[in-house]
Amino acid sequence: ETTNETYEPIAIADTASEEDLIWNISLQARIDAALANGEIYLAYQPKILIQSGEIVGVEALVRWNDPQRGQIPPDNFIRQCETAGRMSQLTRYVLDQACRAGNAFDLAGLSIPVAVNISATLVHERHIVDMVADVLDKTGFEPRHLTLEITETYRISNLDQAAEVLGELARLGCKISMDDFGVGAASLEALLRLPFNELKIDRAFISQMLVNPKAEAIVKSILDMGRSMRIVVIAEGVEDAGTLTKLREAGCIVAQGFGLSRPVDYERIIKNHALGRDDPLRNMV
Ligand code: C2E
Ligand code: MG
Ligand code: MG
Ligand code: MG
Repeated sequence: ETTNETYEPIAIADTASEEDLIWNISLQARIDAALANGEIYLAYQPKILIQSGEIVGVEALVRWNDPQRGQIPPDNFIRQCETAGRMSQLTRYVLDQACRAGNAFDLAGLSIPVAVNISATLVHERHIVDMVADVLDKTGFEPRHLTLEITETYRISNLDQAAEVLGELARLGCKISMDDFGVGAASLEALLRLPFNELKIDRAFISQMLVNPKAEAIVKSILDMGRSMRIVVIAEGVEDAGTLTKLREAGCIVAQGFGLSRPVDYERIIKNHALGRDDPLRNMV
């Protein structure tokens, strides 16, 4: 009896970690194969000038269509890449695809900045600087048209290191954006110490603006702060015309959200531009 009780938990623990190991190895292999087979691709969501409906940028959002598991949501997939030690490979792939799409936009006469999401975990090391420089060099995309959106900045464990790395990326000519502003600890300290050109107010605040006066007050304060700091502020997750009107009244210049445009293929953005249909506000107000 006693033997059984002490034995079993150990057996379970051993089995679990072995399973983890096997899972991670097969995950690595699946991610490598997915990158090689084109199962991983990008959707582009426009950043819209509220005043005119003009597209003033796009954000590249990764998609994984796994033949066995179907569409894997980016949040899961990003975690899986981190677990499998494949963040750097994924980021290089995304940067490369996004810069190529950027070249296609340029050719179509739609010369707009393209934003790529960069995990906070990558900005502690110089490696990302070499990677970005190399991709810019190989694709010939203009550095000033590449925006790097740093996600989950509360995960930056060393602001001195991050400041150095982001400073170097800024010196390459890239714009640096702080994603999901307002959620997670230390976002003000990160804003104080890191060289951001843009900040994106998290959807958590935007989606509450019409129903929660506190959310509205927070959004207005962030817009004021952005103005005083001369940083571009983008409202993300705008889903309805009422929220857009409130944002416009509060002096917000640029917005993004399903109500303006869902993330779409880059070809679709080019086609709409050619047809003179790049005005999502027509659907909105
Ligand atoms: P994010 O960078 O904050 O991207 C915005 C997310 O909100 C996207 O989800 C977008 O589809 C969604 N969204 C946009 N407008 C609306 C709206 O009006 N309503 C709602 N409910 N959602 C909206 P997605 O594509 O699932 O991406 C989730 C997160 O995954 C991103 O958040 C980003 O943190 C991460 N991610 C995506 N692509 C990459 C990538 O290439 N590299 C890295 N490191 N992270 C990525
Ligand atoms: Mg983003
Ligand atoms: Mg965001
Ligand atoms: Mg987000």
